[in-house]
Amino acid sequence: MTLERSDNYEGLDGRIRTVALTLALAFLVLGARLWELQVHRGAEFSGKSDRNSLRIQRLEAPRGTIVGHDGVVLADNRPARDLMFVPADCDVAPEIVCRRLEEILGIDAAALMEEIEEAIATKQPHKQILIRRDVPSSISARVDEYAYALPGVFTVVRPIRRYAYGKTAGQLLGYLGEINKSELELQNLGEIDKSELQHSEFPYQLGDLIGRSGLERRYEKTLRGKEGKMMVTRYAVGVPQIRTDLHGQPHVENLVDSYGHNLRVESEIREPIPGKQLDITLDIALQAKAEELLDGEEGAIVLLNADTGALLALASSPGYDPSIFVTRSGNRKRIEALTEKPNRMIHRAYQEVYAPGSVFKLLLAAAALEEGIIDPSTTHYCPGKFRITPTGRTWHCWKRYGHGEVNVVDALAYSCDVFFYNVGLKLGVDKIHRWAERAGLGRKTGLDLPGEVPGLVPSRQWKEDLLRPAHRNEPWEYRWYPGDTVNLAIGQGATATTPLQNAILMAAIVNGGRRVQPHVNSKSKVTISEPFVSEHTLEIVRRGLRKCVEKGPPAPTGTGHRAYIEGFDIIGKTGSSQNVSLSQHEKYESEEDIPKELRDHAWFVAGVLDREPRIALCVLVEHGHHGSSVAAPLAKTLIEFFYASRGSTPGLKVAREVGGMSP
Ligand SMILES: [Zn+2]
Repeated sequence: MTLERSDNYEGLDGRIRTVALTLALAFLVLGARLWELQVHRGAEFSGKSDRNSLRIQRLEAPRGTIVGHDGVVLADNRPARDLMFVPADCDVAPEIVCRRLEEILGIDAAALMEEIEEAIATKQPHKQILIRRDVPSSISARVDEYAYALPGVFTVVRPIRRYAYGKTAGQLLGYLGEINKSELELQNLGEIDKSELQHSEFPYQLGDLIGRSGLERRYEKTLRGKEGKMMVTRYAVGVPQIRTDLHGQPHVENLVDSYGHNLRVESEIREPIPGKQLDITLDIALQAKAEELLDGEEGAIVLLNADTGALLALASSPGYDPSIFVTRSGNRKRIEALTEKPNRMIHRAYQEVYAPGSVFKLLLAAAALEEGIIDPSTTHYCPGKFRITPTGRTWHCWKRYGHGEVNVVDALAYSCDVFFYNVGLKLGVDKIHRWAERAGLGRKTGLDLPGEVPGLVPSRQWKEDLLRPAHRNEPWEYRWYPGDTVNLAIGQGATATTPLQNAILMAAIVNGGRRVQPHVNSKSKVTISEPFVSEHTLEIVRRGLRKCVEKGPPAPTGTGHRAYIEGFDIIGKTGSSQNVSLSQHEKYESEEDIPKELRDHAWFVAGVLDREPRIALCVLVEHGHHGSSVAAPLAKTLIEFFYASRGSTPGLKVAREVGGMSP
């Protein structure tokens, strides 16, 4: 097991929820010490002789915790110390303080001085100027030690995001970023929902953190807490304020801020309300395993509950640690993450498309059976190649000397291209397109994460729309040809799918023909379609997919045999997504000579039928070349890991209610 907690978790034991709760409570207390001010009655109080001031203190709310399967905390908050400077509280020349800060902290005194001068010039002496964010406790202790020499400097404690497992599930959790000026002015919103900024009861302020991607973005409203506020009068350091209560009894104010200033609360405190907890379906151990399997590769793994659509693992490689966006020290790493190739900012499971290749054959088989175009006894002869007309273009089967006479079950098991060229032509592009739509290809799955791409299933209309503008008077340029259908039949050409879509397709084969809505939020209200394929058809398709993972003899070994696990009812389908044309391949003596970047992408989709929960998964390895040798073994490892960790027993049948089950 390679799952490791990030360094930030040193010293925390398993009772993490208790700790998180304690921290949340601590923030409520610490919140009372935060200074986020607006100057009220500024003119009245800005005189040098009177350094007391009436201010609104903003109390930052901790962000909601994200909790995975089995109550494992994936993202929570820790206290961070920010060093601030308020010109009005500095009774010596600010240059002196700046120079001392330079000596102690190594900050750029000139840059800080510039900000201070600007605040003074624009008549904002009470403005809080950030000296340094998230300083280690050793530094804040030194600042406290030299407090007498650093008038105007104080520490603000605020909650800061912590990702318990670092890089693991990083892309899925997403990251936070500060709201900038143009976003606040609603000029350049990018991905931010305008309504959120305008209509929120608690509008964002410059520098506030907002979810930028993943769950942090999608569930911003849930996770963001409600800030608290209180109106306080603040008095100089070390001067106890003696006041009288309603009955005229004198008492000493005892509320102080972090710098020892006395506070008097003028109006009621509205306590900050922490963001709501987000419970997600992700199994972090499984996720870590999936990411480990993809280590060093570019690719994606999806594993979901085939009956509910609950995502148990959603891995993409390479990934990133969202913590680098939280801390200042992450600056360099952050730039790397944003600019490096290969792109680690996209989630390859649902934000990237690939030709489905032979994975598409399982849909084609189901469609042809449902349409009555073939039955289990229908055979086509595969001599290793295929022509539509005797003199036309030649398409090849991956098996050079052919599969001979094959039926649908064997065509799925051995992935015969020629069988599906024939079946595709009989079905025709319109029916293929309609069936692909029913299966959910070519459109978003409804996943509750931002930035999902729809993919594409070509159609007559699509080709015409694409090419007609450039070839108005040349209808032969945009007409759909049988050759296009042949390419479509084996999932090549312009066909584009996400690994997530292929996992959903496999889930339908497992669960009785239903299209599930993939989701990460455990409380998602999801829809599950009525069966779009009959059980009779599914049984035939499953027979082929079961044979695909079986080892011969007596039957020849299937292309997915590397996913075979003794005692498991596993179905699977290999695929390779063509990356370059065959003519380019022909330049190379053997497959091993093909440079990696030109190699095909490797697919493997699989389902487990006789365990609880029933699962579907999809593995995609970019430039992995063959689904059979590269992707299938990863699926096998992950299936074994998953059921071993759940302690599942073979053949266990549990009454299932579609839609109402936990993963
Ligand atoms: Zn063949």
